[in-house]
Amino acid sequence: MDEYFKLAVDATMEGMREGTGGPFGATLVRDGEILAAVGNTVLKEVDPSGHAELVAVREACGKLNTLDLSGSIMYATCEPCPMCVAVMMWAGVEKCYYASTRTDAAEAGFSDQHLRDFLDGTDKSLFDLEHLEDGREDCAEIWTEFARLKAERA
Ligand SMILES: [Zn+2]
Repeated sequence: MDEYFKLAVDATMEGMREGTGGPFGATLVRDGEILAAVGNTVLKEVDPSGHAELVAVREACGKLNTLDLSGSIMYATCEPCPMCVAVMMWAGVEKCYYASTRTDAAEAGFSDQHLRDFLDGTDKSLFDLEHLEDGREDCAEIWTEFARLKAERA
């Protein structure tokens, strides 16, 4: 087995056996250095965002004290959900290899199809997301203050 997948599988098995996480793991690597090898922490942290890829990005960013993981490669035991794809993109992860598929996960009761259907516009009724035009004015001072601070710190 690929070394990086093995680390992810080991972390996943440990989490499942301890009852701290579901059947998902990930290893994040950059230039041969293992930045994180983790399992899903949803149950342990009581956190719906505790998906393995997200946990790996969070751990690596914290360890390296950076928001930029450019050049890193993720090895995920399963096809990442849209949230995890987004997090990897935000962090600049260069590539993600995955092993099991979304279909395998769905067969075990972990479907992310509702997220995909919402995001690709297939079914917008799945989540109530609405832009309040009046709110733009209510929140506009944030942008003004951001610009002021940015100029001040430049
Ligand atoms: Zn995910």
